[in-house]
Amino acid sequence: MKKITLPDLEFYCPYTDNCYECCLETEMPLGEKDITRIEKLGFQIDEFLVEKEGFMVLRNIESQCFFLKDKRCTIYDDRPEGCRYYPLIYDLETDEFIIDNLCTHFHDFNPSIYQPLHEPIRYFIYMLLSEKEIRLEKTREEERRRDEI
Ligand code: SF4
Repeated sequence: MKKITLPDLEFYCPYTDNCYECCLETEMPLGEKDITRIEKLGFQIDEFLVEKEGFMVLRNIESQCFFLKDKRCTIYDDRPEGCRYYPLIYDLETDEFIIDNLCTHFHDFNPSIYQPLHEPIRYFIYMLLSEKEIRLEKTREEERRRDEI
């Protein structure tokens, strides 16, 4: 059986006991590895994901992530890779790693001390973009086939 790996490094957020802001109105994109890992927990893709502009993003139920219950992430040990890096994010246009200013603790973190996470995050983002292109191409191919019938 194929092993589903998790990132070795994560962003350490000391506020997880009393802050869950980043799980509200989430638009966190998931990679194929995330999706497979979460499906193995017994969840169906349609219940926890929606497609947005070619990306597969976490579904919100009543403005909060499908997996947030009683202010806790119910799949914490298996949570998506992007959730493990947040609020450190990669700005593709400027090639910079920044703390997302949507994070309530935006001013409490210094992005430069998270340098070891930069390469894994950059890799993760390019993987998401590549998976998105493959997904969109598959959709286009299906549409072409339908048009030919
Ligand atoms: S999967 Fe967990 S950590 Fe990620 S947004 Fe949902 S509740 Fe929050």
